[in-house]
Amino acid sequence: MGTYEMTWDLDSIFHGGSDSNELKEYVRKTERLMDDLEASIRTFTPPKNTDQTEKLNQIVEITQVVSKRLSEFGAFVSCLSAQNVQDRKANMWQSKRSELGARLGNALTEMDQVLVQIDDDVWKSLLNQAPFQAISFVLNERRSLAKDKLEVGKESLINDLGVDGYHAWGQMYDALVAKLSIEMNGEKLSVGQASNQLDDPDRSVRKEAFDKLQETWGEASDLFTETLNHLSGFRLQTYKHRRWENVLKEPLDYNRMSQRTLDAMWETITKYKKHYVPYMKKKAEKLGIERLSFYDVEAPLGEANQKMSFQEGAAFIIQQFRKFSPKMADFAEMAFEKRWIEAEDRPGKQPGGFCTSFPDSGETRIFMTYSGSPSSVATLAHELGHAYHQHVMDELPELNQGYAMNVAETASTFAEMIVADAAVKEAASEAEKLVLLEDKVQRSVAFFMNIHARFLFETRFYEERKQGVVSTERLNELMTEAQQEAYVQTLDEYDPTFWASKLHFHITDVPFYNFPYTFGYLFSMGIYAKAIEVGPAFEEQYIALLQDTGRMTVEDLAKKHLDVDLEKQDFWVHALDLCLSDLESFMDLV
Ligand SMILES: [Zn+2]
Repeated sequence: MGTYEMTWDLDSIFHGGSDSNELKEYVRKTERLMDDLEASIRTFTPPKNTDQTEKLNQIVEITQVVSKRLSEFGAFVSCLSAQNVQDRKANMWQSKRSELGARLGNALTEMDQVLVQIDDDVWKSLLNQAPFQAISFVLNERRSLAKDKLEVGKESLINDLGVDGYHAWGQMYDALVAKLSIEMNGEKLSVGQASNQLDDPDRSVRKEAFDKLQETWGEASDLFTETLNHLSGFRLQTYKHRRWENVLKEPLDYNRMSQRTLDAMWETITKYKKHYVPYMKKKAEKLGIERLSFYDVEAPLGEANQKMSFQEGAAFIIQQFRKFSPKMADFAEMAFEKRWIEAEDRPGKQPGGFCTSFPDSGETRIFMTYSGSPSSVATLAHELGHAYHQHVMDELPELNQGYAMNVAETASTFAEMIVADAAVKEAASEAEKLVLLEDKVQRSVAFFMNIHARFLFETRFYEERKQGVVSTERLNELMTEAQQEAYVQTLDEYDPTFWASKLHFHITDVPFYNFPYTFGYLFSMGIYAKAIEVGPAFEEQYIALLQDTGRMTVEDLAKKHLDVDLEKQDFWVHALDLCLSDLESFMDLV
């Protein structure tokens, strides 16, 4: 093992950053291909029999090339902006990327409408033909989703009106939030900065931040009542015209999962909540209070002071990965060697972390700021998990590489779990171990209680919104009730304005940005349990599972690779038992 550099190499993809001539040429060529695609779709008529599939084949081919090139371009631009937030040229590239993305989206919507017109029998035999067989799931999905929508003219009217209607309410929300500020210790903080104080070890700091945030959100909440009611009103009106009764139809379709799976998951979680009640009591005791409040749930119990240099962190990750999968370990080693990771701590970088893939080059890049703490080692492992997921999909047709949010976190959570578990086992002291374990338990509480509250609130809010506008008071009430239920009445104070402060309720790209998190977490728990049970032979099974994430429903994925039925509680029971074992270790130690 050599010494790994902490900065990434972007030049090997396009030389010269945001001034790159290679990039310019690449985008120019992509635009020409886009013109070709649009022209082909314009003259596309539904094939009458399976001998007339040449045109469809040609469209599918160019679609895959264009979408691959747009991902490559988009990934490069997000890396440029992330490494230097001042890079103005990167922003200009960003708008170019959005423009091309919208063009592709419109072209494909048009294509889908032609697919709908193909006779069912022709369609079935067509999907069994060589060029389409491999991507039949995705093609079929596009066709049946298009069938559930309105005719093309109406859908494009909705899309066009949505720019200044639906999506505009989401943007209005962002603009209003950016104007909010909070005074703390004579300093003016943004709401984001003030929210960071909610993790402070000192309870009085947390309490002050919480109270001031409540006050600020409370004062502004009438504005957010407007934006949220209009945004959801637009969504419901669209659903009504499409004759969609269930507000969960869109998110469930998007996540390729059934309502029965979702119900089985929440029902099992609800049964398991009682096990977390003693933990909440214990945590309150450790913090020296009677009962936890909303702002205490994620408070740290102490500091894990075990630090690892970047080299140590890299070596630790590679070593732990190797115990589960030599291929995953080799991949991580290569990513460090080839400088696919930007981890340096320096000013001017974007906060947070991500992994992005370059499907045309078959590479990935990871972005984060490495601090040496156990959580930054875990983040690095998490992002490497994402990168590995992409790596095993590199050889697949582009259309089969798209996976939804609920399975997107599978490989990352799995990788993170391997490293977090090893860190607990190798903790230097009992106190250290306690902090690391508590971190794991806290994650479960977030997925089972916090995310559940969001889901309960959102479902009930949308039902009431169908009857008319929902007032601020009622929104606060719905939120508090959802939290009381989700946290099984364990808390002293709740967060009534959470519906206003949490961005996820105001996002228009993906509705119900909550339950996929919990699904992804428990799904990877189930995989982790299987990996421990099967041992070294699991490596190939794991790769096969990841490769199927873009071409089947989650129920089929679980049935095929884990031999379990997600619509039954057994699988969820198994995954939750694994979470309980951390909880028990924590309770024993405390
Ligand atoms: Zn992730």
